[in-house]
Amino acid sequence: MKSLFCFEPFVRLRLNSINYTSCCQLIDPKTSAHPSVGRFPNPPDFNNDKFKEIRETILDGSYTYCQECPYLKTALRTNKFSLVKPRELFIKPWQIQVMKGGSLAVDPSSVPLVMAFNYDKSCSLHCTFCREKVFFVKSNTPKYQQLIDYQSILVKEWLPKIKTGIFCGDGDPFTGITYKILSETPPEVCREDFEIVILTNGVFLKRKWEAMTLKRFVKKVKISIDAATEDTYVKTRRGGNFQQVLESAQFVSELGIPLSLNFVLSDDNWQETISFIKLAKSLNATTYIQGIRGCPEKAIWQESHPNHEKFMDYLKDPIFLDKKTVFQQSYLIRKAHNEC
Ligand code: SF4
Repeated sequence: MKSLFCFEPFVRLRLNSINYTSCCQLIDPKTSAHPSVGRFPNPPDFNNDKFKEIRETILDGSYTYCQECPYLKTALRTNKFSLVKPRELFIKPWQIQVMKGGSLAVDPSSVPLVMAFNYDKSCSLHCTFCREKVFFVKSNTPKYQQLIDYQSILVKEWLPKIKTGIFCGDGDPFTGITYKILSETPPEVCREDFEIVILTNGVFLKRKWEAMTLKRFVKKVKISIDAATEDTYVKTRRGGNFQQVLESAQFVSELGIPLSLNFVLSDDNWQETISFIKLAKSLNATTYIQGIRGCPEKAIWQESHPNHEKFMDYLKDPIFLDKKTVFQQSYLIRKAHNEC
């Protein structure tokens, strides 16, 4: 695998509620869990030993932490490339420099650093695959103050260096503490080419958009909906408001900001996938479909699920070949269409 390369551990910092790490697809072979690179609330160290160890496995081609990665599997099985590509396709000077592997330490200002602000899990929803009940960090609690202190270090020391900020992966950016970054930071703190990706449940987006001081940096919005009808939505996105979410999606579409509607596929909603793709198309949005993880009994995309064969038949619909539809487990689409 030495001919392939993935830049994620060289450019990505993912700040979670208990730790920080790199991309979300890594698995530690010793524990079968996502490997921690450092602990919250220590400010991130982009060049600590664990980061270097993971980078070494990319440079030497062993990909020890990447065995479950769908991007790596797709590259190996089908020669179709996304994040993982043959080395010769990376031609930017900084990429060539990194691939030379002279040093496993990376200067964060010399790469297009991506930081995912995932440390506040506050969200007004409690989706089946995510949490049992609604969770908020209450103000005037030690936890709230700890997050505020942590976040002020990030704004001061990291925000000016970051090329892309992702808000948020675990909670909702319009509900939690990270909304303070979006609505209180003077724009001149950020790089001119700074880009924000909003990842949201969409419920409060339209209502809270105008107050964002950093809104001009928003270059992509991803709204997780997981349903094409209200009946399914109330099951998959518990506590949400389908109409408000659709209004937010329409609002972003009218602003002309690239929009993606996201769909965590499970045995609760798979029969609505085609309607969901059509909904996205009506808003000029892309569709991102991702098989549910951590709930094997609902993971219809896995061969072990009793309805997997029916699901594979369903995938034969030509709409799944649409260029604006991305399926994280894309090898299943190729299999359904006899392309691999
Ligand atoms: S190959 Fe996959 S798991 Fe490994 S670093 Fe890249 S995206 Fe992450």
